[in-house]
Amino acid sequence: MQAPIIEICELAYAYDNTPALSGVNVRINRGDFIAVIGPNGGGKTTLMRLILGLLEPQQGQILVFGAPPGSNPARIGYVPQHSNTTQGFPASAEQVVLMGLAQGKRRGFRFTASEREAADRAMQRAGVLDLRHRRLNELSGGQRQRILIARALITQPELLILDEPLSNIDPYGRQCILETLTGLDAHTTVVMVSHDLGITANAVTDIIAVNHYALSAGGSKLTPAMLALMYGTHEAGCPVHALLQQMVDSAIVEAPTAHAQRTHATTEHTHEPR
Ligand code: ADP
Repeated sequence: MQAPIIEICELAYAYDNTPALSGVNVRINRGDFIAVIGPNGGGKTTLMRLILGLLEPQQGQILVFGAPPGSNPARIGYVPQHSNTTQGFPASAEQVVLMGLAQGKRRGFRFTASEREAADRAMQRAGVLDLRHRRLNELSGGQRQRILIARALITQPELLILDEPLSNIDPYGRQCILETLTGLDAHTTVVMVSHDLGITANAVTDIIAVNHYALSAGGSKLTPAMLALMYGTHEAGCPVHALLQQMVDSAIVEAPTAHAQRTHATTEHTHEPR
């Protein structure tokens, strides 16, 4: 069996003794397109920062490309959260993409012809080559986000990690970004954080639900166990139960088995009493 790109065993992490993640086991293979979903505060960004080597595991082990996180930065492209910080940025799209090469080098805007070709290739892959001479502050949120994806792609990373790339992007822009990501070649592994459950209807190969603990779906549909991890269990008649049922009906969730349905009907309501 092929070695996984990311392997996480019994990972735990706490901020000042407040646990953010515990007992996390994850395996991600080459070419996977993984959606990491879960409620706000569930630990998704913490998990990404651990994978990138920006935080150290306090328990358990993470291997990325078979080595401790942070050992192979050139093989990883990262699109961080809150990319709106680029909104007022007057540089051209091409300059921003070229910054993906300059990271850490601080050498201004002197680039060789082959580096400019690499930028063109990355913009082509992100579907934004026609925008290369436009200034970033003239572009829509979705276009800016795809420029930032091109910036992360310029080093031709084998692993692309994106933290909430679809937040604050209109439906057309979201679709363009998803097409860009699903259209990447089969060797590029994509790990995308999103709190939009609808994302799972797209071409993801697996979903990981994170809420202090992590569960993987083993496919592109959420499972009832993942919904319970993220939102708790709710009795029939409760509005949250109706909302979760809608997800099952729209086939985002794998339909529960007859056994699971019986179990669900008898599970306790987890809302705090008012
Ligand atoms: P998510 O990305 O799913 O919204 P985070 O990983 O950002 O979740 O946060 C997980 C938990 O860790 C939350 O309770 C959050 O308040 C806490 N947390 C995140 N970053 C810090 C930090 N730098 N210091 C203290 N607590 C933090």
